[in-house]
Amino acid sequence: MAVGSSDLMAAVMAQKGDAAALFEALRVGSGDGYGKGVTRDTYGRGEELAHQLIADRARRMGLEMHRDHAANLFMTLPGQDRHAGRLMTGSHLDSVGNGGNFDGAAGVVAGLIAIRSLQTLGLHPRCDITTAAIRAEESVWFQVSYIGSRSAFGMLPPRALEAKRVDTGRTLAHHMRDCGAAVEDVRRGKASLTAKSIKGWVELHIEQAPQLVEAGMAIAVGTGVPGNFRYPHVVIRGEYAHVGLPRRFRRDAVLAASDFAIGLDELWKKRDAEGRPMAFTIGRFHTDAGEHALTKVAGEMSLSLDVRAYDRIHLAQLESDVMSLARQVAERRGVQIDLGSRASADVAPSDPVVVAALMEAAAKLGIPTMRLASPASHDTATFAVAGVPTAMLFVRNANGSHNPRESMEIDDFLQAVAVLTYWLAAEAGSIAASP
Ligand SMILES: [Zn+2]
Repeated sequence: MAVGSSDLMAAVMAQKGDAAALFEALRVGSGDGYGKGVTRDTYGRGEELAHQLIADRARRMGLEMHRDHAANLFMTLPGQDRHAGRLMTGSHLDSVGNGGNFDGAAGVVAGLIAIRSLQTLGLHPRCDITTAAIRAEESVWFQVSYIGSRSAFGMLPPRALEAKRVDTGRTLAHHMRDCGAAVEDVRRGKASLTAKSIKGWVELHIEQAPQLVEAGMAIAVGTGVPGNFRYPHVVIRGEYAHVGLPRRFRRDAVLAASDFAIGLDELWKKRDAEGRPMAFTIGRFHTDAGEHALTKVAGEMSLSLDVRAYDRIHLAQLESDVMSLARQVAERRGVQIDLGSRASADVAPSDPVVVAALMEAAAKLGIPTMRLASPASHDTATFAVAGVPTAMLFVRNANGSHNPRESMEIDDFLQAVAVLTYWLAAEAGSIAASP
């Protein structure tokens, strides 16, 4: 049996009350007592509670449930051919401390609402359709990214298991065990997902910037997840000196760090003007609290640097630009700039076929959309790097994310869910040839 676009749209819209109720249950369940924020700590109480709520809901829908060795949860509507490549959607359920209710959870709720819509339409997909509730996407807790999704593909480096959670001081291995994960399987690189068994992955996520608000658009199709390079521990060393030292003798670490930051911003401005999207962030920027004082020229500054872009060549150019900026600043200010250890993540462009299919789904449903570069990190990157055709759907959200004020209108959310549902139905052979 197949269905037309207006019936599909109506089936999704009919889930509005259920979607709102599920979000409210998550918010109340993981509310942290600080205003309206939620805390769904990675492999901790908050994330665990969200997993239970979502699992209860999926069980009531009659979905097949599978918890893998990393305690990721996969909820499946079985297809006619159990061996055909499956369609997957979903996102993460953890949050930052005192974060918002929608970052991550929106993608998991969307997957369940999409499957529920297919069920109410009485559709029997040709292949399995799975919604994933992924663990541990937020890197704030263990300072390790994509723990759940990389574990699912057997790609988590074993040393990550020894990372300590910033608040409890206990290792990832300990916390995973608390949540029922089989840590030894994670360590030996067991995989619960393989790229060749997945036909496509689409993650719905709130936009973490106001670009859609600015464009007056409810939803967008993501062009890809940017790659990055990171220097978590940059140290700039000049010379501590008396406040009375004339300018020409100074080797001021504060001014050198400021030059470095402003130089990076100039670079960004230039790349924006050239239409080459990137972003850089200095999340940490400080003098040594044990040494700094009102009447001292600062001899040392510490900072962190994260630089991201959407294509490999651009990213490599940016890194060489960062190096030459550091050399120029060091020379001009008479300081040493030690970039310290380096970490990086590969770029993960969206699959053009999946992007085109989502754009077409939106057109068929009469939902305006656009392509959007959104420079945040998502589990989708893990799927793409593993070789799965991927894309993302972004939902308008006024106040950014990682804060309790993030706001997503349920009507905007349902438009994105309709596009997701259409894509699932079309790929699973359940859309009527003529609407
Ligand atoms: Zn997220």
